[in-house]
Amino acid sequence: MAKHYDLIAIGGGSGGLSVAERAASYGARCAVIETGRLGGTCVNVGCVPKKIMWHAAHLAHALDDASGYGFKLDYFDFDWRKLKTARDALIRHLNKEYLGYLSQAGVELIHGFARWTDTRTLEVNGEHYTADHIVIATGSRPQIPDLPGAEFGITSDGFFELNNCPPRVAIVGSGYIAVELAGMLHTLGAEVTLLLRKDQVLRPFDAMLREQLMARLREDGITVLTHTQVRAVARRVNGSLNLHCDGQAGILNVDTLLWAIGRDPNTAALNLPVVGVATTPSGAIPTDPFQNTNIPGIYAIGDVTEHFHLTPVAIAAGRRLADRLFGGQPDRRLLYENIPTVVFSHPPIGAVGLTEEEARQDYGEAVKIYQTQFRPLYHAFTARPLQTVMKLVCIGPEEKIVGCHLIGEGADEMLQGFAVAIRMGATKRDFDDTVAIHPTSAEELVTMR
Ligand SMILES: Cc1cc2nc3c(=O)[nH]c(=O)nc-3n(C[C@H](O)[C@H](O)[C@H](O)COP(=O)(O)OP(=O)(O)OC[C@H]3O[C@@H](n4cnc5c(N)ncnc54)[C@H](O)[C@@H]3O)c2cc1C
Repeated sequence: MAKHYDLIAIGGGSGGLSVAERAASYGARCAVIETGRLGGTCVNVGCVPKKIMWHAAHLAHALDDASGYGFKLDYFDFDWRKLKTARDALIRHLNKEYLGYLSQAGVELIHGFARWTDTRTLEVNGEHYTADHIVIATGSRPQIPDLPGAEFGITSDGFFELNNCPPRVAIVGSGYIAVELAGMLHTLGAEVTLLLRKDQVLRPFDAMLREQLMARLREDGITVLTHTQVRAVARRVNGSLNLHCDGQAGILNVDTLLWAIGRDPNTAALNLPVVGVATTPSGAIPTDPFQNTNIPGIYAIGDVTEHFHLTPVAIAAGRRLADRLFGGQPDRRLLYENIPTVVFSHPPIGAVGLTEEEARQDYGEAVKIYQTQFRPLYHAFTARPLQTVMKLVCIGPEEKIVGCHLIGEGADEMLQGFAVAIRMGATKRDFDDTVAIHPTSAEELVTMR
């Protein structure tokens, strides 16, 4: 006999935990089914361990910069293994915290891999479960290309298993994970080559950010090869890898190859055809604006869906879905406009709203751009003359701000507050009328001419 719940979330990552916890707070009887470690990608092999590595790289830059401020640091060494041990311990601690958080919320945890056996029933380790509402929150996994020797490469998951900084790394990919890992590895001591299939990184971002970041990567000493594809990988007797590339790269010899070419939604093993949930050719689950799939009572949130693969998006979609199903808020849903995003490159990028290209397509002549470029005071004494660039995309006579794009020190922390203002419909005049905080980089956003 199947055990019945009001709501089951398949996946104990950002989305699944949030929808179940919020639903339980309304008194719903909830379970989360998780096959791996609680917290999902973000906690275990995503945002959290990545940000730790970014902080390490940021510190390395600060140590380099210190001499300009009068410090004498003739020598510093970096112990990757020590950091990894501390990082792994933090993540184990977070896994435990999530366990406590679930039991406090009264959500049952079912360990194992869920799949549908018939239109109503999920099976996990031979046990059967049913629910009035089932939320698919199974996330995604890194892609590995189908080419000879591809298995010699690692993915972002493997990056977090590295015990040492590899001396020479090739990273294949142009998205945010590729550029973030390239920056960290380079700063922490690796010789990094970034291989791009086309000519630029971060394709969906504003052209200003793409161009600035490409220039920074190269100035930093990362080799960026454009129009280059790996066709085959071979392991040599000394353990290094030969990447057989097209384009000008020819054969590239490295110690570690990292694929960062995209992620596949985790839907293939759910047995979705049995229940009739539609998927796109890539396996993602399309939903309507309320996270409904094509089958009543089955929903999808987070990375398994088509858009905005970010932790706060999965969390927000989950919480709003629970508000709608159990909290008496029938119209509650996540609005997918003006979602702020940060790239933890060196320096970081922050972006919210429309790119200039998108705005021009939608609003043509009504678009007005404000842009500024400056050397932040911090870099007055450093050997890295890093510039900060900021762009505001405005529309109409009232100059409503529909896009904000930043690259520079502190852009990651700067963006959140400006995202609130933009979501509330701020105009350029509102920014102008806000008194600046001096001396900061953020003040440039309210003093642009
Ligand atoms: C390297 C990297 C860095 C990132 N950095 C950031 C960042 O800085 N900021 C940010 O916002 N986002 C970042 N992300 C993205 C973020 O991690 C995801 O958007 C977020 O984790 C999605 O949450 P989710 O709940 O949809 O999926 P997940 O967190 O992936 O959770 C899905 C869970 O479902 C489980 N599961 C899958 N199939 C089954 C099954 N059949 N039965 C039971 N359990 C199953 C999985 O084990 C997994 O735990 C990063 C991702 C990566 C890979």
